Amino acid sequence: MKIDYTIKYSNRKTLNITIDRNNKIHLTAPKGMPASDINAVVEKKKLWIFNKLKTKTKYPLDTKSKETVSGESLMYLGHKYKLILSNDIIEGVIFSNKFTVSILNKSEAQELLYNWYLSQAKKLFQEKVELYSITLGVNPVKVVIRNLKYSWGSCSPNKTITLNWKLIRAPIYVINYIIVHELAHLIELNHSAEFWNIVGVQVPEYNKAKRWLKENGGMLEEEL
Ligand SMILES: [Zn+2]
Repeated sequence: MKIDYTIKYSNRKTLNITIDRNNKIHLTAPKGMPASDINAVVEKKKLWIFNKLKTKTKYPLDTKSKETVSGESLMYLGHKYKLILSNDIIEGVIFSNKFTVSILNKSEAQELLYNWYLSQAKKLFQEKVELYSITLGVNPVKVVIRNLKYSWGSCSPNKTITLNWKLIRAPIYVINYIIVHELAHLIELNHSAEFWNIVGVQVPEYNKAKRWLKENGGMLEEEL
C-alpha cells in the first residue's frame, strides 16, 4: 500500500513524521534530502504509521481527495443538508433545506461553501457576542472569526474573542455555550466554580453542549 504524504523542507537534521487529526501524513525533511532517502525512511516507519492511523481513527477516515460530489451532506447549525450540484446557472451558494451550487462552479465549490459558511458565522457569532456581552456586562474589544486548529474559541488578555468558523456547523446551544464561555473569561480568568456558575446562568444546557462537542467535534472539524 502506498503512503501519501505532504512534505516540507526545513533546517532540521532529521526527518519528522506527523499525522494530523484528519489522518493526513506530513513530513518535515532536512533541506536537500533526496526523495529516495525520504521514501526509505517512510518505508521503514510504515508499520508505525499504520498503527498510528489505526489508533487515531476515532472518526471516519478522510483521506479521499476533496472532490465535491453531488449528494454529499454538509453540517449547518447541527443538521445535515445535502449538497446538490445543479445544472442551473447559480451564483455562489443557495441554501434552502439543501445546498445548491452550480455544476459549472464545481471546481470552486469548496471555496464558495467556505465563503458561505464564513459569512453566516460572522453574522451569527457577531450578533450573539453583542447579545451576551450585554447580559454578561462585558466589553470584548474585537471578535475574530477564523479557522482555529485546536480550539473552538479563545479569549486573549487584550479582550479579543476568537471563534472557530467551523462552530457554525454545531447546534445553536453549542454555539451559545462557546461564545458565553469565552466572554465569561473576561470576568473570570480560570475555570473556577464561579466561572461555571456564570456560564450556567446564560446557557443552562452547557453540560449537554460540552458533551455534544466531545462526541461530534471531529465531524465539525472536517475540512470542506
Ligand atoms: Zn475556558
